[in-house]
Amino acid sequence: MISDLIKVPGLYIHIPFCLKKCGYCSFFSVTSLSSIPDFLEALLREMEMVHDPWGPFDTVYIGGGTPSLLTVKQLEAILTHVQKCFRLLPDSEITLEANPGDLSLPFLRSLKSIGFNRLTMGVQSFDQKILDFLGRRHSLGQAILAIESARLAGFQNLGFDLIYGIPGQNLASWRETVEQALTFLPEHLSCYQLALEEKTALGQRYRKGEFQLPEEDLQYDFFMKTSEWLEEAGYLHYEVSNFAGSLTFASRHNQKYWNHTPYLGFGPAAHSFKDGERWWNHASLDQYLADIEKGRSPVEKKENLTIEQLRLEALFLGLRTKRGISLQEFIRQYHSDLLFEKKEVIGHLERQGFLSIQNGHLVPTRAGLAVADSLALI
Ligand code: SF4
Repeated sequence: MISDLIKVPGLYIHIPFCLKKCGYCSFFSVTSLSSIPDFLEALLREMEMVHDPWGPFDTVYIGGGTPSLLTVKQLEAILTHVQKCFRLLPDSEITLEANPGDLSLPFLRSLKSIGFNRLTMGVQSFDQKILDFLGRRHSLGQAILAIESARLAGFQNLGFDLIYGIPGQNLASWRETVEQALTFLPEHLSCYQLALEEKTALGQRYRKGEFQLPEEDLQYDFFMKTSEWLEEAGYLHYEVSNFAGSLTFASRHNQKYWNHTPYLGFGPAAHSFKDGERWWNHASLDQYLADIEKGRSPVEKKENLTIEQLRLEALFLGLRTKRGISLQEFIRQYHSDLLFEKKEVIGHLERQGFLSIQNGHLVPTRAGLAVADSLALI
């Protein structure tokens, strides 16, 4: 079980540029790169606009979009400015999300030398046909070369994103991708089920009936088998979609999103959270640039979560993690004694094999993680 975490804030930076939009992607990004210089200028100014006290950070996560489209100089300018505007703890986790198509050995060596100590690559599949279907711009060969180069450059905390549940995929072909991934001994793996939002290119094709997604039973098997294979290989299945080679390699940054640790986001569409308040920037590059230029906050909306909303979120998010929910912490924070209030339903879910109680925590089993969103309805 993952122990209770100390809540040191994390810092997120959204780089909203991609060379090409992947068919399944609903993250905010634009494919014209001409605004990168203006964006970077605005980003640095946005950091200077923070006047509230924020304690020291122990994570910086540069995500997107495709942050690896930036040059070393540009990424270095961002990290230098973070250090100038905020205090970073000495052993901070500093992550870059990267497209395997961008990662030459000299570039990776430079990333390491400017301070990145964690690299997460959007590998998605070790099957070229699936990469083509997903509309990825990198090839299988580029992914393999990028992984090998990252090791040569000295990255010792390397993660891959993988996607399953592709039309026509079966357990055997998914297993091949997982096994190929394991040959590189990644410290971290994120395995996501393909989800198609209507606004995406693949979502549109799906709506027109051009292909079918695997049936629900097979989707469940993908999830359960992935967990089984990776745990047999020694990985810790610490969140619905996330696996770590050991506790040290569980994403320190992403865990903050799941346990209400404060985080501060910069860039279009970036979210922030502190003291029960959540706010987010406009998901529009033009609006972001105009706001910053005029010295206005780029925040689109703020919401103050009530204690009940926070309680429901803590339940929802906690039951998606292997740490589960600390029953004592829940009583202390939300005056809610789950074992007393939900005695019958928890007992039922325990008998059905979805939940267990371990060391004072309500913890989802593997089958519980597979239906985590429904568990939160207890
Ligand atoms: S999946 Fe990543 S690379 Fe592809 S469009 Fe989305 S943000 Fe860009």
